[in-house]
Amino acid sequence: MVLGNEVDIMALRQDLVAWFVANKRDLPWRRYPSLYGTWVSEIMLQQTTVQTVIPYFNRFMARFPDVNTLAAADLDDVLHLWSGLGYYRRARMLHQGAGIIASNRAPQLPQSRAEWLAIPGVGDYAAGAIASIGLGEAVPALDANAKRVLTRLWCGDAASAAKLKGSRIVALGTQAVDPDYPGPWNEALMELGSLICRSQAPRCEACPVRKHCQASAAGLANEIPLPVKREKPRDVVLAQLVVFVGGKVLLVPPGTEPIVSPVPAEAIVRQDFSGLHKGLWGFPSSPWLVPAGQNLLDPKKWWGSYSGSSSRGFAGEGPVAAGVVKHTITQFRLKIYVHTCRFRDEHEFAAESCPGLGSILQRHPNMDWLFPFPLQDIPLSRMAVKVLAKAVQPKS
Ligand code: SF4
Repeated sequence: MVLGNEVDIMALRQDLVAWFVANKRDLPWRRYPSLYGTWVSEIMLQQTTVQTVIPYFNRFMARFPDVNTLAAADLDDVLHLWSGLGYYRRARMLHQGAGIIASNRAPQLPQSRAEWLAIPGVGDYAAGAIASIGLGEAVPALDANAKRVLTRLWCGDAASAAKLKGSRIVALGTQAVDPDYPGPWNEALMELGSLICRSQAPRCEACPVRKHCQASAAGLANEIPLPVKREKPRDVVLAQLVVFVGGKVLLVPPGTEPIVSPVPAEAIVRQDFSGLHKGLWGFPSSPWLVPAGQNLLDPKKWWGSYSGSSSRGFAGEGPVAAGVVKHTITQFRLKIYVHTCRFRDEHEFAAESCPGLGSILQRHPNMDWLFPFPLQDIPLSRMAVKVLAKAVQPKS
């Protein structure tokens, strides 16, 4: 689709940008804008809400204020600061990108959309956002919000909205960019989509560009664009064991295979953890499975029989049920049964741990997976953060 006559593009740009300048949210990456800060914020904002990102962004910029500091940092430190934000591939790519930029003979951040596209983790959308906001380049930044707003502005019927996909919406987005204010234009489209032109129940009565909008004029704002049918997430269950040993807690590194679980399963959904939570530590886990029975809170169902402080059982307290944590990873909805057990010291742990834990210890007899608790500077997966919180405060 080309711009056409349906929409007065000059007036639309003026109204939208003016609204944005007067109403934009006060966000830390807007307060002291920089190209580096724009890059960091755009990567953090992928698949993550603004409110969640704000404290992470502030901490990240305080610790790694420029690309050279980030490039020189240990990946572990970067991942530690990212702990809880999820999608850790983004942090690894950011670190890798900083390394590439800093290793150039004349290190400087990329100066165009095309150059940004060569940086790991920067795709079409992010390159457009960084180049337009950080460099003033007249290129589109089409996230889901911007695409929805453009579709509603230009389409007064469902059939034309259905066709405005792929290269067509990219062409429209490219022509619509305000050449004088490309950054504010792109941010305005996204801000409008986030605050007013929402996917469900758009607030047309409060919209600054309503007079330009074809969908609203046709009374179809709610039906355009048609919702995308998403695959239903799959429900799976697993159990994780949080083991306290004296003043320490047992963590396992990324990729540690699951402890074999005796829970009868209709299906084992995942037992290869090698690609999971790269670079991040977690807790001993069962496989992910679809169980064949109920009452899964009972630790005996997961970790087999054990007996008090007898040889080869669990000593002291445990394992006991701490509760259930829910967590979503891509298309899986996980229900995690969290169990805890406690040993007085490393002696007792080594001598009396259950067979599953014993297999872990055989590979790491020096106890170098035991970390002083509370944990400091250990990069944990978001899932592990939630599991640990449940283990420490089971009733919350
Ligand atoms: Fe979206 Fe309604 Fe504004 Fe059109 S008038 S852009 S549908 S909020």
